Amino acid sequence: MTEQDLLQQILAANKRFLAGNPNPPGTEGKPFAVVACIDSRLTGLLEPALGLPRHRAVVIRTAGNQITERCRDAVRSIATALYVKKAEEIVIVAHTDCDLARFSAAQAAENFRSAGIRREAFGNEDLRSWFGAFSSIRDNLLGSIAYLRNSGIVPRTMKIHGLLLDSERGGIEVVVDGNTTPDVPLPQAPAPEAEKPVAAEAGEPDEAAPAPRAAQGPPPPLPREQAPRKGPIIVGQPQAPAAPAPEPVGSLLEAALILRDFFYRERQSQQVRQVASSLKTIWNKEKNPARIFAEIEKTARSYQTKYPRIPGALDYLDQAIRNGSADRIGFAEILKRIFD
Ligand SMILES: [Zn+2]
Repeated sequence: MTEQDLLQQILAANKRFLAGNPNPPGTEGKPFAVVACIDSRLTGLLEPALGLPRHRAVVIRTAGNQITERCRDAVRSIATALYVKKAEEIVIVAHTDCDLARFSAAQAAENFRSAGIRREAFGNEDLRSWFGAFSSIRDNLLGSIAYLRNSGIVPRTMKIHGLLLDSERGGIEVVVDGNTTPDVPLPQAPAPEAEKPVAAEAGEPDEAAPAPRAAQGPPPPLPREQAPRKGPIIVGQPQAPAAPAPEPVGSLLEAALILRDFFYRERQSQQVRQVASSLKTIWNKEKNPARIFAEIEKTARSYQTKYPRIPGALDYLDQAIRNGSADRIGFAEILKRIFD
């Protein structure tokens, strides 16, 4: 894009907004997708503050601006933004003082109980994870980006920006500049289980749509990327001239999400399934992070050519265990994230 790039347009619009002269960028540029929190403070603020132009910005709102495994509908909306509305970049907007960052399970329980709703309605899961509570707004933002990057629905070259919006004044801070952050060179192989429900629902005569998906058809047996290839070789198509270094892993949460993504995507593999279930058993018997880590590492390392961010995630986790920042409790949280 030779015209002013999207992030620059948004920053310029934000400057005008803060100066009391909101004026969104033109409607003639490329469409893009925005993911923001459902928080009511953002209503009426988000659009002028970022200068979101009509006809270009597809806005998706999810609690805590999260995109996670449990947010199937957010992923569907993003896919629709990309492949129906032709969005070419994604902007994820976290905001200050997000309620999910100071979520109280007790308070939520009191609130739903007083509305006559029983705890069982939320299953066995603890309420924090059911509601997607988090402790770091930035980590949560990175988590959404990491999840999306590894989701398999976003092209490798797609720019994903991460912003932090001041919920009161509307100022923005760039947390992740998608222009400079190297993208994650994940292979674009079809995921083992591709959108079954969608395929099933595509019963009506729609000429264009089903063809490419049907071509991917029944999931082929997954290639075993066991052969230890040397060096940073790209597995997917050689789009980029050289393999960009994978994005560094910046937090425990991010490391956990990368590993979770790996375990999830390879869940059809006998080996991965076995390891996942034996890990749970080991953890229940002896709560020893180092032991669990060694097991995770053994399996995950053999997939690192296919998942270039695995080494970074493992190193981060290893470091965290050694320096004690992933103590038992922290580690239990991580495991929950991985095997959720
Ligand atoms: Zn929020």
